[in-house]
Amino acid sequence: MSQHPLFATRASRMKASEIRELLKLLDQPGIISFAGGIPDPALFPADAFAQAFQQALGPELQAQALQYSVSEGYVPLRQWLAQHMREIGVACDIDNILITSGSQQALDYLGKLFLSPGDTALVGWPTYLGALAAFNAYEPRFDRLNGNQGAKEYKATAGEGAVKFAYLSADFANPTGETVDLQGREALLDLAEELDSALIEDGAYQALRYDGDPIPPILSLEQARKGSIEDCRTIYCGSFSKTLSPGLRMGWVVASKPVISQMVLLKQAADLHSATINQMAVHQVAQACFDTHIPKVRNVYRARRDVMLNAMEQHMPDGVDWTRPEGGMFIWVTLPEGMVGSDLLARALDTVKVAFVPGQAFFPDGSGANTIRLSFSNSDEATIREGIRRLGEVLRA
Ligand code: PMP
Repeated sequence: MSQHPLFATRASRMKASEIRELLKLLDQPGIISFAGGIPDPALFPADAFAQAFQQALGPELQAQALQYSVSEGYVPLRQWLAQHMREIGVACDIDNILITSGSQQALDYLGKLFLSPGDTALVGWPTYLGALAAFNAYEPRFDRLNGNQGAKEYKATAGEGAVKFAYLSADFANPTGETVDLQGREALLDLAEELDSALIEDGAYQALRYDGDPIPPILSLEQARKGSIEDCRTIYCGSFSKTLSPGLRMGWVVASKPVISQMVLLKQAADLHSATINQMAVHQVAQACFDTHIPKVRNVYRARRDVMLNAMEQHMPDGVDWTRPEGGMFIWVTLPEGMVGSDLLARALDTVKVAFVPGQAFFPDGSGANTIRLSFSNSDEATIREGIRRLGEVLRA
């Protein structure tokens, strides 16, 4: 469809997400879907939320719960988050925290805050599709931030537009499942210093580690260098979507006060504040059961990851390669050169009713045709075994 002549230039860069279009097809019966990176609804702490909403709507809290509230976010939730951030190595107080409507909103605001048309955003090749979509509206150029290979590999190619930020998930990235090691994180900080750019650390999957020791967030490592969060260029984005519930749209940003103050202005202009009652409910549930709930979530996803990895060992033909993530929801598969992920999807849907996401959409330049993303979070173990067996069958055909 051609663009409406009244639309701004940024509109021409927006296109329907391949994933969203695809998800529409998956309601058909009998399809085994490894496509959506969505949590298993059986793991939502639904009873705790029912109780929390009941309480928020009770006589004591209802006036507050249904009323407008401050743009920064519900104070008790920010206090809980300040403590949570301390537990993962980041010292901050509530003035360093903004509550957002999902971490997706934070990505949009950060694009809006940093990117003028033609500025450069460094991103992974591949990277989270939703980040590309959020930043794209601000008409940047994307340049390549290399993965996990250590300092020398993080090279920004010289470009016209100033590099405003580098964006990445250091833990169990979407789509690759890969984690940046300590040395890689330090190298990223060196690069951001060298470029005098911001660094956006997407911690959406941070809590979902299944084995290995946690690695401090990049923001924590920068604090160790500089002493105070106020001197840090790293901006940490967190989310309750993968741990408690994505439907409530609860995320947060942790950064120096000047960055947070400016983001509060963006929030005021965009939606005033995130839903008061949702913030109250998430606070209540996080306080009551975050620490007991997360190990349960990890146990279920760890087992599913293991089943998927074992099934792949058994059923993938020679020439197919894949990542072995220590957490998160995704395994990233590289098919033999020349094979095309979207063709494979068409065949897999048609012949064996298995769905996944072709990897090409995650590359800013449309490369990566021979890659696919598999999610293990929302299928039970028997379904994963059967789905991978079928996928192996199609790949061999
Ligand atoms: N970052 C990453 C890496 C994600 O995978 C997602 C969700 N798929 C998000 C951010 C956005 O999550 P939310 O807005 O639900 O917090």
